[in-house]
Amino acid sequence: MKALSDIGLIGLAVMGENLVLNMESKGFQVSVYNRSTEKVDNFINGRAKGKNIKGTRTLEELVQSLERPRKVMLMIKAGSAVDASIESLIPLLEPGDIIIDGGNTHFPDTDRRTEYVESKGLLYIGTGVSGGEEGALLGPSIMPGGSPKAWPLVKPIFQSISAKVEDGTPCCDWVGENGAGHFVKMVHNGIEYGDMQLINEAYHLMKDLLGMSADEMHDVFKEWNEGPLDSYLIEITRDILGYKDEDGEPLVEKILDTAGQKGTGKWTAVSALDLGIPLTLIGEAVFSRCLSAIKDERVAASKVLSGPKPEFKGDKKQFLNDLQDALYASKVVSYAQGYALMAAAAKESGWNLNYGGIALMWRGGCIIRSVFLGKIKDAYDAKPDLTNLLLDPFFKDVIEKAQQGWRRVISAAIENGIPTPAFATALNYFDGYRSERLPANLLQAQRDYFGAHTYERLDKPRGEYFHTNWTGRG
Ligand code: NAP
Repeated sequence: MKALSDIGLIGLAVMGENLVLNMESKGFQVSVYNRSTEKVDNFINGRAKGKNIKGTRTLEELVQSLERPRKVMLMIKAGSAVDASIESLIPLLEPGDIIIDGGNTHFPDTDRRTEYVESKGLLYIGTGVSGGEEGALLGPSIMPGGSPKAWPLVKPIFQSISAKVEDGTPCCDWVGENGAGHFVKMVHNGIEYGDMQLINEAYHLMKDLLGMSADEMHDVFKEWNEGPLDSYLIEITRDILGYKDEDGEPLVEKILDTAGQKGTGKWTAVSALDLGIPLTLIGEAVFSRCLSAIKDERVAASKVLSGPKPEFKGDKKQFLNDLQDALYASKVVSYAQGYALMAAAAKESGWNLNYGGIALMWRGGCIIRSVFLGKIKDAYDAKPDLTNLLLDPFFKDVIEKAQQGWRRVISAAIENGIPTPAFATALNYFDGYRSERLPANLLQAQRDYFGAHTYERLDKPRGEYFHTNWTGRG
């Protein structure tokens, strides 16, 4: 073992332990520390035994065990624990040393901490790490932002531990200043909410409208995973539907139908509202979880409120093709919305985001990894200033081909009383986005009527405002 380690890591929970083992397997020596020091002992005598990993029992010992400029990575609970750790580390570090936060931090906290840590002469990185436990060990998607000067110093470690796409390109690159990395990770998580909701709606229709068994649905997801929808989430859905409980029945049907929402999906939707971006699909995905969570209320309402009884009339094979189209088209809309949000945030914060590079970072290692992201990279590589993904020739063609099936699926869902909020909002966004004229003229008239808010006219130059006395009263 070398006298000094390449990097120090604080926080030996699920993510921290696995990241340390990943770093060590790529040839880096890592010093580790955890607030409850028995976890250091357990790790050093367990999974880290015989490896180039040094256990330390105080922050001083950790810092002293590192090569300069020191790199100290926090993989701890997001929130005040990160602020407290930064406070403890600052007096122990020297100018040019780097503090890295790899947790699920809300991006405004990273904006604030970058400025604060830099004001102390140190450098700061706030990075998204996606891929859960397995990703951390075998190759996560890593989305770093913060102090640009810190990037070349951590780049060799981050890029060697990250996931790689087929040609070996790492799923990790510099995102931008301050909170840019955590912002992009937040949008990643929001998109994950949307992708999951879309799959759930497809499952709901297969089960309650087509009356399919879990095994039949397993076969459909298996087939979908071999086409344009090929992705980690479709793959795990296939496996989940094929999984049997001890009694031989599908386990998925025994799971309580309520879901929580921990924060990142909500943050994405709130950020879209703040920036005025129509991020409707992720919003619906968050609200769908909220609706699922009021199970008792739903059970009571189901005894009182009635609707149509699902009854499928039609060609099942055709409907399944339509469903695949609906899922694909809605997914395109969701990513178009997510990318529009990133573009708005970049404008607001002065980040120079590389949109193709972001698609590449998400292409492997993370929960939303998919073949589809390669197409998004191609779209932004061809036109880095693309206004909306829907305008890219490849995706325009996808939507054109999928459109009729997409509409048939939503019509059938509505007729049969099966909720498909994400499919429907995606189509509504598409229909709104491609509309030269929307009814906001009436809205402006209403606002002018009750509040004298004024309006612009189609037949006059923009920027000229008019008010009408709608009632004729003085
Ligand atoms: P976690 O359960 O979020 O956090 C546990 C770790 O935080 C422990 O090492 C704990 O130390 C430490 N900690 C808590 N409060 C502390 C404080 N006040 N001071 C110092 N240390 C403190 O761990 P995790 O699941 O491995 O996640 C780590 C971070 O990565 C989180 O931000 C999480 O959101 C993010 N993340 C997690 C996943 C995942 O799949 N789990 C995926 C991506 C990102 P003690 O042992 O002393 O309690």
